Amino acid sequence: MAAEGGERVAIVGAGLAGCLLAVLLGRRGIPVTVYERRPDPRVAGAERGRSINLAVSARGLAALEQVGLRDRSLEQALPMHGRMVHPLPGAQNFQPYSADGERAINSISRAELNRSLLDTAESTPGVTLRFSQRVTGVDVEAGALLLEDADPEPADVVLAGDGAYSAVRRSLRLDEDADFLEHGYKELTVPPKDGGFALDPDALHIWPRGTSMMIALPNLDRSFTCTLFWPKEDFAALDTPGKITAHFERHYPDVAGLMPDLTGDYERNPVGSLVTVRCWPWTRCGKGALVALLGDAAHAIVPFFGQGANCAFEDCIEIDRCLTETGGDWARALSLYQERRKANTDAIAEMALDNFVEMRDRVSSPVYRAKQAATHALERRLAGRYVSRYELVSFSTIPYARIPARIRRQNRVLAAAALGSAAALGLGLRALARRR
Ligand SMILES: Cc1cc2nc3c(=O)[nH]c(=O)nc-3n(C[C@H](O)[C@H](O)[C@H](O)COP(=O)(O)OP(=O)(O)OC[C@H]3O[C@@H](n4cnc5c(N)ncnc54)[C@H](O)[C@@H]3O)c2cc1C
Repeated sequence: MAAEGGERVAIVGAGLAGCLLAVLLGRRGIPVTVYERRPDPRVAGAERGRSINLAVSARGLAALEQVGLRDRSLEQALPMHGRMVHPLPGAQNFQPYSADGERAINSISRAELNRSLLDTAESTPGVTLRFSQRVTGVDVEAGALLLEDADPEPADVVLAGDGAYSAVRRSLRLDEDADFLEHGYKELTVPPKDGGFALDPDALHIWPRGTSMMIALPNLDRSFTCTLFWPKEDFAALDTPGKITAHFERHYPDVAGLMPDLTGDYERNPVGSLVTVRCWPWTRCGKGALVALLGDAAHAIVPFFGQGANCAFEDCIEIDRCLTETGGDWARALSLYQERRKANTDAIAEMALDNFVEMRDRVSSPVYRAKQAATHALERRLAGRYVSRYELVSFSTIPYARIPARIRRQNRVLAAAALGSAAALGLGLRALARRR
């Protein structure tokens, strides 16, 4: 197939979204050049300071399926069927994610996933990957991609998947708001124990500690990557090996002994920031170039629903769909794309923030556990009519924006049913009393 309109198309960022979009466009017969600031990670190794593993769920898998990478990704993943909550004090308890206990989110190495996508992009006709090319912005009037240490390059369409701190977004001076949490994150490792997993590999482990928490996801090499989500000043307070060890023995006693290089990891690994980016519009049309943002560049979210990458993949699928619907008219397709996606990404951004409170605090309460059990019982009883928020987010591809309203509606119906039952019970009791 020939290029749809003959435009010179550039993608900025060969991360998860940039690579997937390159494959989708290449398959449409649109030649595309991908500019990535890092050296090729397949040669140079993965970048430090990014999350080591990710939870990929239904939305991400549906997108990967479109480029034939679903099964390969699942082969490189470990399913997690629920949360293993480690309260303090108390015994760990397993909370399945789905009512039937069958559904799982998948822990996958970010580097492996990126490598698979890069391999697929590289082997797609029309896709050119250019590494060690840092983009500094776009001149939309001249139709040029601005590069650090190199001459500008002509581009008619620029698709910016250059992450939460997007240089392209900054160069467009859009109406934007970057909302940083006061919490940061740091990664630690639980290595294999006696050749096996030191913790149950079928779960996402959570140590909820009120204002902070630690989570752990399994890796194929039988290690776990733990991530601390703490107020930033708490990281700095542990400034000696003695303080680090004492803190973990006190607050994470069941796992402290499983981390032989705890103090080394703690001192070596950086503290990352957690940001929600809200900006609008996501597109800019100048005389020379049309630009659109996607993935974290358009809508970075906090990681507490494990949806950032899943959501970024959905953006790529939507761009591809809009190109089909508009017959390859870039201006109309990108306008349609942003209109369709914005409400969805706003919705998941809010749900992700809300889930932080759930994970770090609510999951350990007996009331929460009872509520979860009741929710799952209802889901089994009213299959398809009552569906939990977690299920809708992680195990369906229903647009995120529809989920809050659907949950409110379900809860209203339930409350009315409960009131009705209570009223009926009251009447029944009164009738019984009269008869007596
Ligand atoms: C701690 C943590 C845990 C997470 N866990 C999950 C999870 O479990 N599930 C999930 O779905 N999501 C998770 N996420 C979110 C997920 O990592 C992101 O949403 C996802 O990586 C976004 O993909 P992207 O392609 O938009 O951006 P990125 O993956 O950030 O890729 C951007 C790419 O652009 C390149 N780049 C940047 N600037 C330039 C430039 N100026 N010029 C050229 N190239 C550039 C970068 O090098 C990179 O390759 C997590 C995030 C964090 C921080």
